[in-house]
Amino acid sequence: MYFPFLCVSVDPMKPKQAVFRRSQRRLVLWLGLSLCLVTLSGCGGKQPPAVQGDAASQPAPPTRLTDVSFKQVRIDDKFWNPRLETNHKKTLEAVYKKNTESGAIQNLAIAAGKAKGQHRGPFWADSDVYKWLEGASYTLALSPDATLEAKVDEVIALISAAQQKDGYLDTYIQLVNPQARWTNLAFFHEDFNAGHFFEAAVAHYESTGKKTLLDVAIRNADLWDSVFGPGKRAGIPGHEGIELALVRLYRATGEKRYLRLAQFFIDGRGQKPSFFEGEYQRLNPAKTANFLGEVRTIRYWQDRMFRKDPNNFDTSYCQDHLPARQQTDVVGHAVRAMYLFSGMADVAYETGDKGLLEALDRLHHSVTTKRMYVTGGIGPSGENEGFTTDYDLPNENAYQETCASIGMMMWNHRLLKLKGDGRYADLMELLLYNAVLAGVSFSGDQFCYVNPLASSGKAKRHDWFLVPCCPTNVVRILPSLGHYVYSRSEDGLWVNLYVQSEVTTKLSDGTEVKLSQSSNYPWEGRVRFKVGVSTPREFSLNLRVPGWAKGVACQVNGQGMPLSVSNGYARIRRQWANQDEIEFNIPIETERLEAHPQVVEDRGKVALRRGPLVYCLEQPDNSVDVERIVLPMETKLESRLEPQLLDGVTVIVGRGTQIGTEGWENRLYRPLVSAQPQPLSIKAIPYYAWGNRQLGKFVVWIPSVP
Ligand SMILES: [Zn+2]
Repeated sequence: MYFPFLCVSVDPMKPKQAVFRRSQRRLVLWLGLSLCLVTLSGCGGKQPPAVQGDAASQPAPPTRLTDVSFKQVRIDDKFWNPRLETNHKKTLEAVYKKNTESGAIQNLAIAAGKAKGQHRGPFWADSDVYKWLEGASYTLALSPDATLEAKVDEVIALISAAQQKDGYLDTYIQLVNPQARWTNLAFFHEDFNAGHFFEAAVAHYESTGKKTLLDVAIRNADLWDSVFGPGKRAGIPGHEGIELALVRLYRATGEKRYLRLAQFFIDGRGQKPSFFEGEYQRLNPAKTANFLGEVRTIRYWQDRMFRKDPNNFDTSYCQDHLPARQQTDVVGHAVRAMYLFSGMADVAYETGDKGLLEALDRLHHSVTTKRMYVTGGIGPSGENEGFTTDYDLPNENAYQETCASIGMMMWNHRLLKLKGDGRYADLMELLLYNAVLAGVSFSGDQFCYVNPLASSGKAKRHDWFLVPCCPTNVVRILPSLGHYVYSRSEDGLWVNLYVQSEVTTKLSDGTEVKLSQSSNYPWEGRVRFKVGVSTPREFSLNLRVPGWAKGVACQVNGQGMPLSVSNGYARIRRQWANQDEIEFNIPIETERLEAHPQVVEDRGKVALRRGPLVYCLEQPDNSVDVERIVLPMETKLESRLEPQLLDGVTVIVGRGTQIGTEGWENRLYRPLVSAQPQPLSIKAIPYYAWGNRQLGKFVVWIPSVP
């Protein structure tokens, strides 16, 4: 996520030369996110009336949603429990160990005067400690763990001791280049480190009630605020992230200066000439920096970022090409873009800023209709770790950084809160179950930085990276799962994700409501809810109707009922009594997806999707080279649960054919021969599960013939 100019191919441990790809690869993705007009079929005996086309299915005006804290959600889910447990027992441990070996924790100890040595790792190494702390904090709230808590307290003590008297904290600047403080925001990631610092501090405070880290973060935020802002020093973040974190800090503390500083950073983007150009001009041309082991002048590195054309200082790499409110197409580094857009959404949520909202709508349209993978992942290119041109979505060379998927999920959650529209929750779910989950192995200690959608056998996860942003992002996002499952609005409770759990929250009038949901999602779509209220109470229960679902049905206390669906949610408003039961049936079927014809690599191919899961053909499940498998259009596809496979997955099976190799010895071309298809059985597994058995080929997009 931070190689601004080093092209990373499949293995980010080894930065390589640019991977040349056909620039015309164009894509499409069809995501089935269409607004739902749901036809109903009764479950059980009753057949409730269909609502397709009725007035109830008209789009409703935006509904502003409020967070339900992850602390109010107790997850007990067959699919997610093992992953959360692994994150707790394995991933946190593995990431802590690597943060120690890499020097990231030691840097803090040196800055604190508690150890001797030199700073190790990149400028942003501090952020990897903060992300571990954030994940560890959520985990402590979910599962008390004295050993983990002691480790957390120890790291917090180092952070506190490393902070300078005026509140400044950035170990690279403190130990390597103190004169550079705030002189090169484009390059040195002080803003990015501070953003993750604030996020960790709020997470720790919310999870444990302790202010030990929050107080340190407040001192640092106050320093930022005393330096930057209207009438003070100009500046914008080189790597966005501090904007969303400042809003988070504002929400935790009620200190409006932090919100205003976030606004200031967002408003400063896209000036002509760019703030970054001024920084660049002020640089000492001889000053060097060690960037991932390579010592060069800082100008050299910045030329790679901003001056690919020496006559044009182009800052689109970090979304500085236009003022935020004028931006239309997603450009540049994907993680930076997602963090910026998340920060814009946060500011818009707090201030009602229409200009930001309109820009976010345009940007969201741009990415979801032209620049997103079928898994929800984004950023096809290793050269800028980000966006290229419309429909450029290569498969084997897909970059699709795990952090970018996490950022995209965070952004969509914010848009969901702003609009109460299920299409954002659909995307959040798509990302979570596919692009994000594929980023970590079942063992919890191997990670993807890049996430290809096909592999000729070399793609694999790694235990760490020179730039370990993705492992440390995974370790914080998984234990925050509860944060995404439910929301509240003025008139009731919203279920965004189908995760077996129990939530206890208060409605707008202060009434406490419990809701438990149970299911075998994502394998099956029957979800049962039970309401808990001390006295009968009228409110709305809003259940997401996924965009891919057809024929969703509902019963309340055994009685089928018509559903009123708008903006992707079925709204059930009634007087709820204690122990009321709802059964919500979301048919989960296997679907073939095709891509927009301009996605060159996917032409003539299909991807398989079942519910929220995208599938792939992986070599161990198939008798011939998966690159040679063809899926005839008329082939009936079936699904079955295989409890012993990959910790228990539902697979998709059917009859395919294979592209033969007979008669090709010593030939490269020949007159077209009409070959007889050779049938064979095929089996597809969920994409998130690839690479958990052995190195081997896999493909998401499968050639399909009439
Ligand atoms: Zn990353």
